[in-house]
Amino acid sequence: MFFFIDIYMKKAIVIGAGFGGMAAAIRLRKKGYKVEIVDRCNNLGGRAQVFNVNGFRHDAGPTLITAPFLFKELFQLYNKNINEYLTFVPLNPWYRFVFDDHTIFDYEQSLDSTIENIRKISPRDAANYPKMLKASKDIYDIAFEKLSHIPFHSFLFMCKQIPTLLKFKSHKSVYSFVSKFLSNDKLRRAFSIPPLLVGGNPFTTTCIYSLIHYLERAHGVYFAMGGTGKIVLELTKLLESIGVSVRLNTTIERIKIDNSRISELIDSHGKVHKADVYVSNMDPLHLYKNLINQEINPSIFFKKNFSKTSMGLFVLFFGTKKRYENVQHHTIIFGKEYKKLLKKIFKGNELPYDISIYLHRPTATDRSFAPKNCDSFYALVPVPNLKANINWHTSGNAFKDHVIKVLSDKILFDLENNIVEEFYMSPKSFQDNYLSHQGSGFSIAPYFTQSAWFRFHNKSEIIKNLYLVGAGTHPGAGIPGVLSSAKVLERVL
Ligand SMILES: Cc1cc2nc3c(=O)[nH]c(=O)nc-3n(C[C@H](O)[C@H](O)[C@H](O)COP(=O)(O)OP(=O)(O)OC[C@H]3O[C@@H](n4cnc5c(N)ncnc54)[C@H](O)[C@@H]3O)c2cc1C
Repeated sequence: MFFFIDIYMKKAIVIGAGFGGMAAAIRLRKKGYKVEIVDRCNNLGGRAQVFNVNGFRHDAGPTLITAPFLFKELFQLYNKNINEYLTFVPLNPWYRFVFDDHTIFDYEQSLDSTIENIRKISPRDAANYPKMLKASKDIYDIAFEKLSHIPFHSFLFMCKQIPTLLKFKSHKSVYSFVSKFLSNDKLRRAFSIPPLLVGGNPFTTTCIYSLIHYLERAHGVYFAMGGTGKIVLELTKLLESIGVSVRLNTTIERIKIDNSRISELIDSHGKVHKADVYVSNMDPLHLYKNLINQEINPSIFFKKNFSKTSMGLFVLFFGTKKRYENVQHHTIIFGKEYKKLLKKIFKGNELPYDISIYLHRPTATDRSFAPKNCDSFYALVPVPNLKANINWHTSGNAFKDHVIKVLSDKILFDLENNIVEEFYMSPKSFQDNYLSHQGSGFSIAPYFTQSAWFRFHNKSEIIKNLYLVGAGTHPGAGIPGVLSSAKVLERVL
């Protein structure tokens, strides 16, 4: 009987098991497809891999959960209560910002405390902050609530959004949005940082991304106990329980196209895969540049050849022999330069020296990440991607030592004598591990000319049975973005 049903089911293959791919597989299965998910890594999760080294655990990618309801929806589709599988703990402060002159600014769960902390730096800005929050909410109400899960492949639909885009002055940057309300340089830096967390330069990223500010205020900032890896583990179990088949350590190397339709995929083991629909969770630049080259139209030609990629990431993973009790769960440590540093990261050809760092200390919330009386950390440093002429093979170790020195000088005192089990990922690792074009951290950057209709569509522009989810597609990078791209998929199938 089951076999009988099975042969009449349409088959879908999802290539890539990042959060976008896993969410797509879960939603496709609910729609009645027989689903297979294929990934080149050893585990599901895409960039959210987990490293375990001698008692120290590290989430390799995302750490910050900003819209947990998007995960809840995936469990709800199968009448499961997410609280039985995952515990999301609200963090406070959400982030600590540490400036070059040692000023500290805590961005907190409580609005009143945040305003009070702003007042200590600039009383004038404390009065204006609620106005900025309101402006961010106005963008959020439309761009996130109404448009993030809606397909943007119709040019007509895009044109209908022009009045809204003009109203929000979308051609302006996040930094200019923040500067309209805040005058203090430190606060401008702190509140314009979110685009960097999804791969964009705050000075050139469309101010639509200011919605992140209200997204955090509306839904909070969380840590999943056990880490992001625990979310991946529970989604893996969910996929198994609903009958999605998983094929790991397998790279799709060739895509055969007949009459503008994919007829088969060929993997790294020489195996041929066939399905009715194909969903790519790969970096769309890798897909269109390396796997699909016989079909082209002006939109894809333009995106394929002129898209600007996001920056690269240098991520240093390490443990310490002691606990740094005063270090918060999330800390952003600024160097002296801001605008100049961002220019070096996005346009430069060399490694910056005066760096800014995002420091993750999961052991502040969850001690299972390290042996007793120890800490687990990762330090993420935005750097130029592989478009820049940096040889990571020869410069990686020296840069690692520089990052350790900066951390030791600014926040993790005497780190050189306490650090253990350190290793790093560079943009070269992102290229090698995830086939990320130019080793970028977040696929294409979130500029106005690379957003909505201008971003890679969730229904392929040229191949009839191909759909796309993930960071390089609408609505964009970050966990909320890629989970929303899987919701768009449901509407375009
Ligand atoms: C260090 C870091 C920190 C981050 N922090 C946060 C955070 O705190 N909060 C947040 O919301 N977001 C964060 N992000 C962004 C977020 O993690 C990503 O945008 C999101 O996870 C990307 O998901 P995705 O669906 O695009 O797939 P990806 O995670 O990019 O996965 C795609 C998968 O496809 C596989 N693949 C590619 N090509 C092939 C092929 N040909 N055959 C088989 N498999 C293939 C890749 O190997 C990979 O496993 C962070 C990202 C990084 C890198």
